[in-house]
Amino acid sequence: QRKPSLEYLNRIGATGGKIPLGLKRKGLRVVVTGGAGFVGSHLVDRLMARGDTVIVVDNFFTGRKENVMHHFSNPNFELIRHDVVEPILLEVDQIYHLACPASPVHYKFNPVKTIKTNVVGTLNMLGLAKRVGARFLLTSTSEVYGDPLQHPQVETYWGNVNPIGVRSCYDEGKRTAETLTMDYHRGANVEVRIARIFNTYGPRMCIDDGRVVSNFVAQALRKEPLTVYGDGKQTRSFQFVSDLVEGLMRLMEGEHVGPFNLGNPGEFTMLELAKVVQETIDPNANIEFRPNTEDDPHKRKPDITKAKELLGWEPKVSLRQGLPLMVKDFRQRVFGDQKEGSS
Ligand code: NAD
Ligand code: UDP
Ligand code: UDP
Repeated sequence: QRKPSLEYLNRIGATGGKIPLGLKRKGLRVVVTGGAGFVGSHLVDRLMARGDTVIVVDNFFTGRKENVMHHFSNPNFELIRHDVVEPILLEVDQIYHLACPASPVHYKFNPVKTIKTNVVGTLNMLGLAKRVGARFLLTSTSEVYGDPLQHPQVETYWGNVNPIGVRSCYDEGKRTAETLTMDYHRGANVEVRIARIFNTYGPRMCIDDGRVVSNFVAQALRKEPLTVYGDGKQTRSFQFVSDLVEGLMRLMEGEHVGPFNLGNPGEFTMLELAKVVQETIDPNANIEFRPNTEDDPHKRKPDITKAKELLGWEPKVSLRQGLPLMVKDFRQRVFGDQKEGSS
């Protein structure tokens, strides 16, 4: 692996103050693709607060200007409407590559576009990282484990993925993105990091994006029945967005390539999740069963031993603590409050 320059180490504070230049950490130039989306916009908030110069690259497929417009007057912030499937020239130190729709409803809407985003988009961002010597972080997904035959999922598990199913554009796309990332690392000495993100929720999720937490919360607020797909016994592990952002930043700044699972090991069936939503919003909310979607993974729970040991990271916010924070934001947006997008 190419040795990072002293200037770079100094900038990220990795020199431990041993180098005279490094007493005061200088802001980094960071690009966040997909930075106008749910996770990206929270990451941008943290980077801006740290004093970095942040460039968001987003095509607004599922992202919104409202998620980042509170930074518009800050000269350290720049928003570029751009599709990562097209090449782009930028001069940066770090690339957080998030651009890709994450909700099954969104990524199935135009599956070929989803694959192009994952493969060509990731290729372009790796080409950029190679050209300017930037560190590159890929936000991969727990979906690379498919419908897992190992539980909980450890990073060494290779997964059980249908290559020709309706979810393949996303999970096979992300698997290829991981492959490209490792090939640029091995072949072109690009500094890379890979995060495998498990289901994440929080303020600024698209209200009608079809994901289970956003669906249940919006339904309960609108006094509509909570739609449980299948028998509701399938499980997921839900992580609050601030925990994820902390994990992504630790991974980027740390010395380990990964992949790292970033998720909350608390596992819930969809019926249990519905119950927590009822407790939080409306105990009288009804539950309505609907047919499940194709290839739906039966269970999912991260083993986060590796992230704990090597990144010193673990989630801090439980579902019962995090859900009310999301409900506050959804309440404002569902009922048309002026403060849309802020949190
Ligand atoms: P999101 O849909 O809110 O954000 C994705 C952002 O990428 C949006 O702003 C969208 O407009 C942008 N985008 C999509 N295609 C693009 C393209 N071709 N060019 C430029 N911009 C494009 O989703 P999110 O939940 O914030 O997810 C962010 C990342 O994290 C994604 O890569 C996703 O796969 C990954 N991830 C998220 C979760 C989760 O539960 N939220 C779980 C696993 C992985
Ligand atoms: N690329 C980009 N910005 C850059 C450098 C490269 O978008 O600053 C794109 C480039 O157009 C190419 C991809 O990244 O499609 C891969 O670049 P690389 O140099 O690795 O491969 P090559 O251009 O030799 O195929
Ligand atoms: N689901 C549900 N009701 C909904 C939306 C989703 O019961 O209104 C279920 C879905 O079948 C899946 C789980 O919730 O088993 C998580 O789905 P989501 O789309 O949030 O994310 P996934 O983990 O499948 O990518």
